[in-house]
Amino acid sequence: MDNPTFRHWAHEFADWMADYFEQVAQYPVKPRMQPGDIKKQLPAAPPELPEAFVQQFEDFKNIILPGMTHWQHPQFFAYFPASRSAPSVLGEMLTAALGAQCMIWYTSPAAEELEDRCMEWLRDMLALPSDWTGCIQETASAASLVALLMARERASRYGVNQSGFYQQPRMRVYASGQVHSSVVKGLKIAGYGEDNLVTIPSDEAFALQPDLLEAAIREDLRQGYLPVCAVAALGSTSSTAIDPIRAMGEICKTYGLFFHVDAAYAGTALVLPEMRWMADGLEYADSFVVNPHKWMFTNFDCTAFFVRDVSLLKNTFSILPEYLKTPLDQQVNNYRDWGIQLGRRFRALKLWFVIRTYGVEGIRERIREHIRIGQWLDATIRQSDDFEVLAPTPLNLVCFRYRPAEVRDEAALNALNEKLLLALNDSGEILLTQTKLGGKYALRLVAGQAETRQEDVAQGWERIQDTARSLPLTP
Ligand SMILES: *Cc1c(COP(=O)(O)O)cnc(C)c1O
Repeated sequence: MDNPTFRHWAHEFADWMADYFEQVAQYPVKPRMQPGDIKKQLPAAPPELPEAFVQQFEDFKNIILPGMTHWQHPQFFAYFPASRSAPSVLGEMLTAALGAQCMIWYTSPAAEELEDRCMEWLRDMLALPSDWTGCIQETASAASLVALLMARERASRYGVNQSGFYQQPRMRVYASGQVHSSVVKGLKIAGYGEDNLVTIPSDEAFALQPDLLEAAIREDLRQGYLPVCAVAALGSTSSTAIDPIRAMGEICKTYGLFFHVDAAYAGTALVLPEMRWMADGLEYADSFVVNPHKWMFTNFDCTAFFVRDVSLLKNTFSILPEYLKTPLDQQVNNYRDWGIQLGRRFRALKLWFVIRTYGVEGIRERIREHIRIGQWLDATIRQSDDFEVLAPTPLNLVCFRYRPAEVRDEAALNALNEKLLLALNDSGEILLTQTKLGGKYALRLVAGQAETRQEDVAQGWERIQDTARSLPLTP
């Protein structure tokens, strides 16, 4: 593609993107598709000869777009949001145009130094301990794996890195049953083994019970195991339950455990002084993860990972083959040594644009509004006769179910709510996801896109009630 053609299409795309932002509400939230519906429209073999770009763009609009779930649709309330914003999209465009691979300082000094500065900004915006150091990881899953590897290497004095697990006692990791599945995956990858995750029961608010954590550690010590790490959920994925950070931190300190805090979603709320009670005791943590790509209006992917002891992080991951040596290695951040992969995208640019375009106060206003909407929905559902809220709502995720007077059997209620979710999601007008809380099937509704307004949530709530009340009550 020559540059005049590129320029033409770049302008066309910019127009298309601005139109999409305006019109996203007109698409079905989730496409009605059968598996294979898209693939069968794509030729089995790649083109041997160049194809006109105009045709490619047409195919994007006619084949690809109808198969997309519209995460920025105002009736998308599923999972946690992947909230993007205009400045973030613009940042991604420049990152793509630069096409830089930012593995070390030498390969793009500005990328390393902007990331360093943005992580300092974010640390201070969220009132994290001022001696922490941050870097960007691709996802929270990767960041939690990095934390588990750091914990392993601290406990073994880099022995597992050197010789594998052969000489090691059996290492144990502790978390509540509400911990994110990525931690379980991380245990497998890091070689602890899933059997060495000790699940600590939660209380009625789905938060870990610290006295039971301490009892489990003592029992493991009696049995000759090595307690290595505890993971707290600061905002669980299921219901944004908040584990007791201070109590867990004190126990970790007493028994010498590495303490990782997973705040992938809820961490963004720490931008609000009135929400910082959630993180009381955070100074005990060894590592902390938050996803600006979830609730801070920054395109997927952008995960911020903070550690107390950056030399432990670097010693866990550093490699120095001859072909990567540079004269300045002692004076700069070479992020290839701060995580799993060597190659790195320039992700700080979009975050920089987001923080500067909103301003910290602008971000606070949006987050505060989202929480207010969440509290409004929680209160509204609590007033309803035939719906009930199933977990505390500290933020903007509400977990609830339909519970008409005629149905009292728990299994029947679970089946009814599963039917309700399917009916809602099949409509293409709204998208929610589910969880199980104490055996009860719950619908989850999260209001957290950059542009979410109360009227969007009110409209969704009306639809939920109408759909529920039109369901037949007998199976
Ligand atoms: C979403 C989520 C994750 C996983 O995030 P990725 O960035 O997609 O890996 C981990 N922990 C919690 C609490 C989450 O909500």
